[in-house]
Amino acid sequence: VALEPALLEIERALPSGSVIVDRDLCASYAGDESDVAPHLPDAVVRARSAADVAAVLRAASSHQVFVTPRAAGTGKSGGAIPVRGGIVLALDAFAGIEEIHAGDLVAVSRPGTRTGVLRDAVLAEGLFYAPDPNSLGECTLGGNVAENAGGPSTFRYGSTRDWTLGLEIVTADGTILEIGKRTHKGVTGYDLVALLCGSEGTLGVITRITSKLAPAPERVRTLAIYLGALRDVGPATMAVQATGLARAIELLDDLTLAPLRERGRVQLPVGAQALLLVDLDGEEPAIERATERLAAKLEPLRPIEILVADTAAERERLWSVRREMSRTLRSLVRHKLSEDVVVPRSRLGALLEACRTIAAGHRVHMPSYGHAGDGNLHVNFLWDDPADAPRVKLAGRAVFEEVVRLGGTLTGEHGIGASKIEHLSLEQSAEVIGLQERLKATFDPKGVLNPGKMFPARHAC
Ligand SMILES: Cc1cc2nc3c(=O)[nH]c(=O)nc-3n(C[C@H](O)[C@H](O)[C@H](O)COP(=O)(O)OP(=O)(O)OC[C@H]3O[C@@H](n4cnc5c(N)ncnc54)[C@H](O)[C@@H]3O)c2cc1C
Repeated sequence: VALEPALLEIERALPSGSVIVDRDLCASYAGDESDVAPHLPDAVVRARSAADVAAVLRAASSHQVFVTPRAAGTGKSGGAIPVRGGIVLALDAFAGIEEIHAGDLVAVSRPGTRTGVLRDAVLAEGLFYAPDPNSLGECTLGGNVAENAGGPSTFRYGSTRDWTLGLEIVTADGTILEIGKRTHKGVTGYDLVALLCGSEGTLGVITRITSKLAPAPERVRTLAIYLGALRDVGPATMAVQATGLARAIELLDDLTLAPLRERGRVQLPVGAQALLLVDLDGEEPAIERATERLAAKLEPLRPIEILVADTAAERERLWSVRREMSRTLRSLVRHKLSEDVVVPRSRLGALLEACRTIAAGHRVHMPSYGHAGDGNLHVNFLWDDPADAPRVKLAGRAVFEEVVRLGGTLTGEHGIGASKIEHLSLEQSAEVIGLQERLKATFDPKGVLNPGKMFPARHAC
């Protein structure tokens, strides 16, 4: 009932063709890359400016219609799925880099800009934007800020929050606000930018992003270190970390390597039980010295093979294994659930062992890969028969309990979304959850923005 007057107002304010109600067209906005069941939106509105976003939110707010922001839909926790229906606010066409300022070391972009596009554009000017989610060819800067996305180089350079200086946002009632700054330094007021980073589209819609840049490192070298035993992962990771030049330390375990080997996607050395994919960056002589020192330190572990790549093409060839991983595993079975738990680095070995025990106990296939340098493991659950779902659920819960016991956190980069709400209280007290819900109510008193995400819903339209 409320939807129709809201859509009429939106149609009047936005360029024609911006509102989509055709069910077939709406269907492509129903799901994302998570295992959360797709949900058909009642309408999709494609925004191309902050004024468009403000008009949508003003109308939705005054008629109490739910709005779910969506960018590329690569999210892995159901964040962009309109689980309560209403409008999907599509931001993928609201793209473009407005400015790259080499002197100030900042870039200003619109939210639908693809992460890889910004990285390539600044690199062409000798500059560096560090966040590098493995989906960087598809995902957007707005989606990255909303999820506080990480990536392999988070190990050395931090996640999206560490590279975001200022934002333009539109709050649930349609007010356009500038928060944060354009300078690398500044402490005026509360850090609202940090709060918006990782807010999963629940506090405001991001319409412009001022990102921090740095000079590009002189040289990057990729090493593929194939280990003969899973237990060597811990000591090998420490040895890589000790070089002081590691930008990324990524792990693929034996269960993850097996399908790659079987499908002939990559040539894997015989006997390899784990792969550490490492990026070193810095000045040329330092990288040479670090590589030699690292090889000597790894010698007692007798790695099966160490491959070295220096050119962009060779490096990409080694990295393509990692980038393809998620989709290769998904192609094996009908159902794949991927969690992204984090434990203190020193406890990664304990988590890997615990996952093996849980997998055996619940009879679930659980390959793991992830950002070993950050203790951030993507634990996957693969199954074909829908009747196995309850066992997978129990195995997942057991992993979360173990992670919290080891001093870790439920999600390193994918967010709570719709998929992990039921586990939140394992990690956070009722008081902490309550405080965040009050913050949400301050930003969005009517509960219009992205309902059914992060917290059990308290406010209903
Ligand atoms: C193969 C693959 C590899 C991946 N690797 C990584 C990885 O290495 N690291 C990582 O962190 N993630 C990774 N992801 C997950 C995903 O790519 C990230 O979460 C990404 O940040 C989502 O961006 P998106 O543009 O697709 O956003 P969407 O999926 O469209 O949306 C994600 C969330 O952001 C909100 N949102 C989107 N745009 C806005 C906006 N402008 N304002 C407010 N809220 C908004 C949505 O409501 C939703 O809650 C991977 C996904 C895939 C499929």
